[in-house]
Amino acid sequence: MHCSNPLALYNMYKLECAGSFYQSNYRILLATNPRSPSSNEDDFMAIGSQDDALLELEKQLNRLHRSIRIAIQDYLKPLEGKRHRTLQENQKAVNQIQKLLERYGLRIQCPECGTPSILRVSPRKNAVDGVFVFDHKVKGKRTFHGGRTTLPLMRLVEKPARSAK
Ligand SMILES: [Zn+2]
Repeated sequence: MHCSNPLALYNMYKLECAGSFYQSNYRILLATNPRSPSSNEDDFMAIGSQDDALLELEKQLNRLHRSIRIAIQDYLKPLEGKRHRTLQENQKAVNQIQKLLERYGLRIQCPECGTPSILRVSPRKNAVDGVFVFDHKVKGKRTFHGGRTTLPLMRLVEKPARSAK
């Protein structure tokens, strides 16, 4: 039915507004008055169902995370043995890599000792555009391994969980 009377339209609009106002209040009432615990058996989760769902989710996320790691590894592979012309450019490049790895919870494995580490560029007397070093803790002490003038092989590993103290 088409209604062209502006007053009738306005009244319909008012009714609609009142209706939705009532509805939203009703929803709030429902939300603030939870059902009594005994009201519905369907509310209860089956024993272990949340754990099973979490386990399944973790499996899926692990697969996704592995794909992410492989994709980043593929991006890094062609960079091995390359370098930029200035210290600033090398530092910028390494910062970009580290930002990416940080976002996905990854570290670069030190080729010398195997410890997950952060790649950095440090200036040296004999290499003004810097050398690439692996920054990590060895036996609790901050240590730098590496020192090549070109980007090293960057093998990705999971970032270790923070040790609880
Ligand atoms: Zn090392």
